[in-house]
Amino acid sequence: MDVAIIGGGAAGFFLAVNLKELAPQARVTIFEKQTNVLKKVLVSGGGRCNLTNSFEGVTDLKQVYPRGHRLLKGLFKAFGPQDAFQWFETHGVPLTTQDDHCVFPAAQDARAVTDCLKRCATNFGVAIKTSHAVENLIPQGEKYEVRFCDSHNAAQLFDYVAVTTGGSPRGESLHYLEQLSHRIETPVPSLFTFNVPDPSLRKLMGTVVEPATASIPGTKFRQSGALLITHWGLSGPAILKLSSHAARHLHENSYKSPVLINWTNETNTETVVNALQTTATQHSQKFITGIHPFGLPSRLWIHLIDKCSIPRERKWGEIGQKGIRRLADTLCNDRYEVDGRSTFREEFVTCGGISLESVHRHSLESKSCPGLYFAGEVLDIDGVTGGFNFQAAWSTAHAVAQDIAKKQSDLDNEDIQPTSK
Ligand SMILES: Cc1cc2nc3c(=O)[nH]c(=O)nc-3n(C[C@H](O)[C@H](O)[C@H](O)COP(=O)(O)OP(=O)(O)OC[C@H]3O[C@@H](n4cnc5c(N)ncnc54)[C@H](O)[C@@H]3O)c2cc1C
Repeated sequence: MDVAIIGGGAAGFFLAVNLKELAPQARVTIFEKQTNVLKKVLVSGGGRCNLTNSFEGVTDLKQVYPRGHRLLKGLFKAFGPQDAFQWFETHGVPLTTQDDHCVFPAAQDARAVTDCLKRCATNFGVAIKTSHAVENLIPQGEKYEVRFCDSHNAAQLFDYVAVTTGGSPRGESLHYLEQLSHRIETPVPSLFTFNVPDPSLRKLMGTVVEPATASIPGTKFRQSGALLITHWGLSGPAILKLSSHAARHLHENSYKSPVLINWTNETNTETVVNALQTTATQHSQKFITGIHPFGLPSRLWIHLIDKCSIPRERKWGEIGQKGIRRLADTLCNDRYEVDGRSTFREEFVTCGGISLESVHRHSLESKSCPGLYFAGEVLDIDGVTGGFNFQAAWSTAHAVAQDIAKKQSDLDNEDIQPTSK
């Protein structure tokens, strides 16, 4: 069987290697439009490649996969994070799990992952064609003709084709797949930080509060974690997670939205009122600027006092019930106006892509085009930061490899069945 894999990234290579392990006789070709393969893996995780996560503390996959969690739940039964961990270790990449559950190569170098995938692909005889940008796929009977942008590259016929072209917020790259009756969920960026053009916030640059909760008023979007104030606005895990869960909502609102920050770890404002009252009683003679409740950094606390219009020279005993309520409200619902987004260390993923309604859930084979498959970020699957996106790439690629190998083995078995007289 001839198999074309379109896209030489994480999913494409993992698919190729797994397929060759299951079906060594398969002729597998990876077509990559760039001059180098696995480029994103090489720069991922700040050059260290956060290739999966232990998923410790993840009680519901929806927490980490705003899109695709149901499908992945099924696929993880066949090939989950522990399988990925073991796969890389048995293929020569020792791994280490950090305290935050993120998994990296023990060498702390993404090259360990790219070298492994390239070495395995080469050893198995996978053909790797760089500078081959695929432009179109034309069904020809039970096969597919793969056509390239560059007319010097002749079109070729394949029995199976897997599209692993990754994410791209530019939807045009998926037009040829739309023409083959696949629904496309409009691609939009995910995993970004918030621009907040508020001069009072700029003075707090570098302030970190952990944990804080960020939410979008009037929606169910709310995420907790470390929150970092930067020179352009708000960042840190709480904001990145919020940007992921609310990716489509924020896109629809042109990245202009109010955001509420709860600087305390309390969900109940009355608990915060009580805590402030206790502080006021215990430290009635101390200046309000001198005691920062909830372990807040001093600069942030003073900023919040100013926001409540409480004079800095007031003593705790002088702020009264009204002042305490104003403070509690600001601590729990501190409002900022987001105006635009920025990338986080150039890391982003795409929300959207091939609709999961267009593929069979266990094999990721197209419902409209038998023999055509999808894996990786080209699908409408994406996760928050922490190795979850690569895990989705490994699991989806594995599912496709299994299905193609099984289909071929079923065909081979049909061929060798003795004919009955
Ligand atoms: C800077 C950065 C850092 C990241 N760090 C992490 C991390 O540490 N952990 C994590 O889990 N995730 C991380 N991610 C996300 C992760 O890299 C992706 O989710 C993952 O690479 C998706 O794998 P993929 O194979 O689907 O797509 P890609 O790895 O993007 O591969 C797709 C390939 O297809 C090629 N291609 C596209 N169109 C065509 C075409 N028409 N013809 C031929 N080839 C084509 C592309 O050139 C590319 O090589 C990071 C993302 C970025 C941008």
